[in-house]
Amino acid sequence: MSTLPISFDDVAAAHERIRGVAHRTPVLTSRTANERAGAELFFKCENLQRMGAFKFRGAYNAIAQFTPEQKAGGVITFSSGNHAQAIALSAKLLGVKAVIVMPHDAPAIKVAATQGYGGEVIFYDRYTEDREALGKRLAAERGLTLIPPYDHPHVMAGQGTAAKELFEETGPLDMLFVPLGGGGLLSGCATAAHALAPACTVIGVEPEAGNDGQRSLQTGSIVHIDTPKTIADGAQTQHLGQYTFAVIRERVREIVTVSDAELVDTMKFFASRMKIVVEPTGCLAAAAVLEGKVDVRGKRVGIVLSGGNVDLLRFAELVGA
Ligand SMILES: *Cc1c(COP(=O)(O)O)cnc(C)c1O
Repeated sequence: MSTLPISFDDVAAAHERIRGVAHRTPVLTSRTANERAGAELFFKCENLQRMGAFKFRGAYNAIAQFTPEQKAGGVITFSSGNHAQAIALSAKLLGVKAVIVMPHDAPAIKVAATQGYGGEVIFYDRYTEDREALGKRLAAERGLTLIPPYDHPHVMAGQGTAAKELFEETGPLDMLFVPLGGGGLLSGCATAAHALAPACTVIGVEPEAGNDGQRSLQTGSIVHIDTPKTIADGAQTQHLGQYTFAVIRERVREIVTVSDAELVDTMKFFASRMKIVVEPTGCLAAAAVLEGKVDVRGKRVGIVLSGGNVDLLRFAELVGA
């Protein structure tokens, strides 16, 4: 019946594929956080996932479904962030060659991490070259299969396994808050919520500086923006995807925004109160709840902490101020 790009069956199948490979990450609670929000909060800790973010789920689910020819040919992606590391690690585990297209000025730590997982890094100039065009050209020339960071049904279904695990652990929730960049995580999690907790209200959270998702949901068509200036580097996307938006418009109630200052306050809260390192983008959903962007009083609330990859010096700079 459904004409959406993914169904709950796809999320469940992804969960089988990643079983024993991805971590089943812990769900943490905090009395202090509950008191502050006036609600019962459940934090799904993807900052403790392999390679430090939920992106491992989608990347592994996508490469695991390659045909023998695709596996022999290799995988390519364009990303300077967590998706690059997720593809490199997943490819290594599945015995597939990975090529990652990154900007010349990508942080050295991210280049090193990607190379450390055995990925071949090809640099481009972000001011003069189009990474998507370059990725497609290299894919065609070298017989590589392109796996984009979010707009792909196998990636989306994989990301949804985070929410599936959360609901399996907590039972039905009244609300679920999810960080939003291009919408892979939000579309997958909303699909899981729709099946496992149909009464749950799903809310996406993006940076104030880049509220294209919010405007897209309000206007009913995908809004494009310039790369937003925000410390949430995992959500500096310029637009939602065709596939992700198709799911989000059906399954997500609302998209709210938080400021960089609110993200920093939330990082500090996690470090000082809950003893966990969460990267700025990973704090989006939690910031919306802890900073009171939405009325959650008296509710049971799920919150996805999407990642923990932040350079230590940068972390000290942000939380030390
Ligand atoms: C990629 C990423 C996001 C955004 O995910 P989308 O699927 O692009 O919406 C959020 N948090 C972290 C830590 C990420 O790496």
